[in-house]
Amino acid sequence: MVSRIIPVEPFDLVVFGGTGDLARRKILPALFRRFCAGQMENGTRIIGAARTAMDDVEYRAFVAEALIEFNGDHTGCEPGTIKRFQEILSYVTLDAKGDGGWSELAAKMHPGRVRAFYFSVGPSLFGDLALRLHQYGMADHDTRIVVEKPFGRDLDTARALNRSLADHFNENQIYRIDHYLGKETVQNLMAIRFGNMLFEPLWNSQYVDHIQITVAETVGVGGRGEYYDRSGAMRDMVQNHLMQLLCLIAMEPPAVFDPDAVRDEKLKVIRALNPLKPDHVVRGQYLADEEKPGYLEHVENPDSLTESFIAMKLGISNWRWAGTPFYLRSGKRLRARTSEIAVVFKEAPHNIFTEDSGRHRNILTIRLQPNEGIDLDVTIKEPGPGGMRLVDVPLDMTFSEALGPDADAPDAYERLIMDVVRGNQTLFMRGDEVEAAWAWTDPVIAGWEERGDRPIPYDTGSSGPEEALALMHRDGRKWRDIRA
Ligand code: NAD
Repeated sequence: MVSRIIPVEPFDLVVFGGTGDLARRKILPALFRRFCAGQMENGTRIIGAARTAMDDVEYRAFVAEALIEFNGDHTGCEPGTIKRFQEILSYVTLDAKGDGGWSELAAKMHPGRVRAFYFSVGPSLFGDLALRLHQYGMADHDTRIVVEKPFGRDLDTARALNRSLADHFNENQIYRIDHYLGKETVQNLMAIRFGNMLFEPLWNSQYVDHIQITVAETVGVGGRGEYYDRSGAMRDMVQNHLMQLLCLIAMEPPAVFDPDAVRDEKLKVIRALNPLKPDHVVRGQYLADEEKPGYLEHVENPDSLTESFIAMKLGISNWRWAGTPFYLRSGKRLRARTSEIAVVFKEAPHNIFTEDSGRHRNILTIRLQPNEGIDLDVTIKEPGPGGMRLVDVPLDMTFSEALGPDADAPDAYERLIMDVVRGNQTLFMRGDEVEAAWAWTDPVIAGWEERGDRPIPYDTGSSGPEEALALMHRDGRKWRDIRA
């Protein structure tokens, strides 16, 4: 099956921080792949803007290098496509905090076309960029701005950021990126729930025993030690990515598939979250192994109380979910790199088979990485003679197998950037959602800080601290294996 490419009108995209790590690794390769796919009409322009002094020729060479380094073995590009892509690139040396470069940038803008400004810089510059876009006449109603995480570190800072953007832009011009929402499977989650009759009637506490969300990484904090130590898994992963997944799993069907209708429903989920009880959360820090240092050495802070692992049990107080626990966990240096959501259904109300036929449950697993796809575990008779023995087998729908290699989906950044150009905010977080998520997270973090809670050490390559397993065992449940 060949995916349909719908070209978008020519647009101007300015990447503030166009020489930074995120631009090199994600944004520019994503733009290049959309260019290769034929989605950009003639006349589209991409303008890098950052403090580093460079001219257009140097920037084109810089981008070509990044594409070669980070575009992997991407196929489908004719020879010479990088050269053609370079022709749509230009660069402006500019200081977000001063006036240098801004007139030059303003002079480059084409009036009357969609223009997007990607703020790929630290959040401390968001307000300066918004103000200067306004001062230099680039903040008209066709302008969209894209902002990266972290969107604040608590409710107060998120509110301040929202205000600094709202001074010059309407909410429908602000695209807060959470790249998890751009994943094909995450959107499929909505298609599966709201496009099929099969699941929705079962999607509630009457039939669902519990839901597990796991986002596990094998890497440590890498070169982000200083930043990470001020953040931790709750701020870095739960408040945004896991919370967004939770919302999509738990929300009510919106009346229409419209950005605000979807986001209204997500917001209601966050507002219905119960406060997290201290004994419903386990925090950990990874230990060194023979090769790599542990968390404390990594962040060069032997007294650090920041968690590199978190597991929690959550409840949602509404009619659909009262009584169904949601277990979330995320951590670094775990056994495998995997992200998945598992909806574990209740056992059949009565077992008509013999006692030794075992206890069985349907599990719907939505895999975000690796091998994006969906499995449904169903119970069948084990083949062969010897009576009625039951076994659970997955009905596996790995998308690349089911839909063929040409269905190779655009990666999250490709999809999200094109959504910005098309003006579709469905997969972006609204300001009130972000604030509601912080409003839930803040008291939890404040409680740890007040008590001086020390995270529990765990082995590199494990599934996290034993206490996280116990969190489930206490309820007669168990986590799914963390495996690639
Ligand atoms: P980086 O430090 O590698 O790059 C920062 C960019 O901003 C550079 O191009 C720099 O020249 C520019 N810049 C800095 N100060 C400036 C100023 N005063 N005026 C104009 N330009 C200025 O950072 P990064 O890793 O690319 O991250 C950018 C943003 O994206 C940050 O908010 C980060 O938290 C977020 N983010 C990064 C990643 C990632 O993988 N790197 C992932 C998610 C979110």
